[in-house]
Amino acid sequence: MDSNLLNNHTQKAASNDQLDTVLSHIKTIHKNIQQQAKYEQSKLNTTSQQALGPKFSIEYFNYEEELEKMEENTDYGLSLEEATKEIYPFFQGAIRLESPMAMFNVSANPLPEATAASCLANIYNVNFLMDAYAGKGLLIEQKVARTIGNWMNWKDCFGISCNGGKTTLLYAVKSALSRIAPTSQQNGIPDNLVIITNQKGHYSIDHVASILGIGSHNCLRISSDEDGKMNLAELELVMGSQIKKGKKIAAIICCGGTTIDFICDDTEAVAQLVDRFTTDNQLQYRPYLHLDAVIGWIYFSLLNKKDSEIYNIVLNTTIAAKIIEVKNRFQGLASFDSFGTDFHKVGLCPYTSSFFISRNKDCLNLLTDGNYKYTDQDFNYGQFRSYRYTIENSRPSQGILSSWTALLIQGRNGFIEYLTKLHSNNLHVVNKLEEYDIFNVINKRSLGWEVVFSIRFNEIALKQKADFDYNKTAMAFMQRCWEKVNRGAFFPLFSIVPEYFIQNGNATTAFLIYPTHQNITMSFINNVIDLIFREVSLFEQDIISNTQKIFSEPIEKPIR
Ligand SMILES: *Cc1c(COP(=O)(O)O)cnc(C)c1O
Repeated sequence: MDSNLLNNHTQKAASNDQLDTVLSHIKTIHKNIQQQAKYEQSKLNTTSQQALGPKFSIEYFNYEEELEKMEENTDYGLSLEEATKEIYPFFQGAIRLESPMAMFNVSANPLPEATAASCLANIYNVNFLMDAYAGKGLLIEQKVARTIGNWMNWKDCFGISCNGGKTTLLYAVKSALSRIAPTSQQNGIPDNLVIITNQKGHYSIDHVASILGIGSHNCLRISSDEDGKMNLAELELVMGSQIKKGKKIAAIICCGGTTIDFICDDTEAVAQLVDRFTTDNQLQYRPYLHLDAVIGWIYFSLLNKKDSEIYNIVLNTTIAAKIIEVKNRFQGLASFDSFGTDFHKVGLCPYTSSFFISRNKDCLNLLTDGNYKYTDQDFNYGQFRSYRYTIENSRPSQGILSSWTALLIQGRNGFIEYLTKLHSNNLHVVNKLEEYDIFNVINKRSLGWEVVFSIRFNEIALKQKADFDYNKTAMAFMQRCWEKVNRGAFFPLFSIVPEYFIQNGNATTAFLIYPTHQNITMSFINNVIDLIFREVSLFEQDIISNTQKIFSEPIEKPIR
């Protein structure tokens, strides 16, 4: 072993040889996966499979039955070729974000440069617990945070790379707890703390409250008005009644864009209300303000632009008006404490690449176990230890290098361009849907780029008369489309909203498309809508001729 190392040293860099081997294995495994996927797809009796679909095909299974069937003898190693057979199932049923047909959620196909960087981070700089291991990688982590921070004039911000948006929320609430109850880091949290968020804020906030010991019932939700903003009168009432009960408001988490309807709070109005409330009630603390901007952070790229400049960059006035509205809602950020970004959502990065970003480095001390205090000394190379404030000890690094690479490759203007593209994709989907009278777009008020629409199943309605049930029919159609995709078809993977609120408090089952792939063209979008249109006709024929049934079991709500 030692002499080998020496040899390599004097001949050529060992790492190059190793990278070649890794790349060759990647190619071998990749080729096998593609072959297997194409073979599965060839079993479809339809002919027009131009490429692999938005999912690797999958069949129904039961977890426990599969585990029982498992090979018990694992004593002997396999060749890579043999192992590949057992590796392939790992991908079955997985969404293929590189497919333009994947329109299921706000995750874009990553930039190839960002994916390459992510893989190399995984090979060459693997553990981000401290700079003695990760070297300058920890500085790059701060440079990613500072790049976004500089867009919004947070010149002293400090960031923590983490696995996902939920973890950014966890860091925010933990920081809030330590600030409002400084001894809690050592003694545990008091039982009179609540956090408040928008009714339509992310569901994971309840779990975060639970994990941190506040309890999910102490995550209070404020209903939102027609524009998605928290109802401020209600917010003030709830804050008032909590104070009266002897509770303390540890944090208010505002929405900075969500997957459906792009729910977005008016940050300035919330901050002003909080300040006035703090003074009026002589609170000894100001509730911690966090913006869940894991989707909406892309708008920070144009926070320094005047409206007139935005109209110059974004020529379509409908799109420009939406963008300006979101920009205006972010005007109160100056007095917020932190926000979250997901680079895997609109940052053109592979998973996992989220950042919790705090206005200053106070978060470091707020997040420790209370037995260590960061000083200037810690910021000298060789002294910097992130494990004292991070949730993980051994900490992945891919997100740091992929987001850094995406920021370098795109630049601020590149993100503005992508944002504009998302909105023009949205407009094109809307316009194309409206060419058909069976489709009805029902979320035109949304500030986001998702398209929510309903489908008129005219033929079925005509046949079934009084028995016609729109919601069940819509579910059955969705099920049919998903089954097609699960068999590996090159067909759009879109989604459903079981109870989408339309005017007057009424709800309906609606369909949902996210045109987030950065390379989709207008003609591709036309094809997608045509394919859905044709599938509706086929579905209607099958229902009418009784070859497909409408099942009555409701399908599990898709998560957002
Ligand atoms: C996706 C999302 C989250 C959760 O992020 P993960 O990356 O899935 O952990 C939180 N808030 C909002 C608004 C989101 O869209």
